[in-house]
Amino acid sequence: MKLYAPSTIRGIKEQYGFKLSKSLGQNFLTDKNIIDKIIDSTDITDEDLVIEIGPGIGVLTYEAAQQAKKVIAVEIDKNLIPILKDTLGEFDNVEIINQDVLKTDLNQIIAESGCREAKIIGNLPYYITTPIIMGILESNTHADSITIMMQKEVADRIKAGPGSKTYGALSVAVQYYCEVETVAIVPKEVFFPAPKVDSAVLKLVIRKEKPVELIDEKMFFRCIKAGFGQRRKTLSNSLMGIGDVTKEQVKACLEELGIDEKRRAETLSLEEFANVANYFSKGEK
Ligand code: SAM
Repeated sequence: MKLYAPSTIRGIKEQYGFKLSKSLGQNFLTDKNIIDKIIDSTDITDEDLVIEIGPGIGVLTYEAAQQAKKVIAVEIDKNLIPILKDTLGEFDNVEIINQDVLKTDLNQIIAESGCREAKIIGNLPYYITTPIIMGILESNTHADSITIMMQKEVADRIKAGPGSKTYGALSVAVQYYCEVETVAIVPKEVFFPAPKVDSAVLKLVIRKEKPVELIDEKMFFRCIKAGFGQRRKTLSNSLMGIGDVTKEQVKACLEELGIDEKRRAETLSLEEFANVANYFSKGEK
């Protein structure tokens, strides 16, 4: 049986009385090529733990289970659990957890599995793509990589560099934690039902060493938030949003770092944000 075929999805809907939920972002993948691209680019070995976010009826789970030591899939929709038990019934290395991934401690799951780290995969529900990615990164999840499908517009924002319209806090934050690779651009027609927008698969490889040295990570994120929080303002104004600094102190910082105060945050590189953060972390006010 081709699990990914639209006729299979229709059959499952009928057999189990299953109704697709728009609010849970249930647009299932129907293209074996794309499924293979996600699985192949994840480089799964028989020693790997794979954690899947939102397995749906199990199209990615099915392929990952054939290569991994273990697959743990976290699915919020309880109506999909009996379906997954059937579609993945032939595997004894698959565990399904019926939970909201945003309320799931992935590090605990990894620790209990006996594996050192996980490879995370998923075709993410669009409505919570950013919180899922940032949640994984900010909680220092023991993951080797995150290979995920998302709305193309979000992928563009993640990949963007300084000067680009789509460059923002998400770009700097994700690029600080990960090396970003594009795996595929995916047209909306390969989903059932088709969403309104195109998608992209990115592989986020978690950096073992960060690209910049920071005295205080929290200050770095405060600077990014302040900079992009007021996109239209010049740097000397927007960086006031760091809090607890005067305009004179911001100007002195920018002068010492050789950064023109009239520039806007969207032109600052990750390294320049790091330099600003380190300046204020040292208390050079
Ligand atoms: N992986 C399947 C595929 O590619 O066909 C399904 C992908 S579908 C875009 C997103 C899946 O995530 C759905 O099965 C949905 O129920 C599930 N989901 C939505 N919100 C979730 C959450 N907060 N935690 C876990 N799963 C969630």
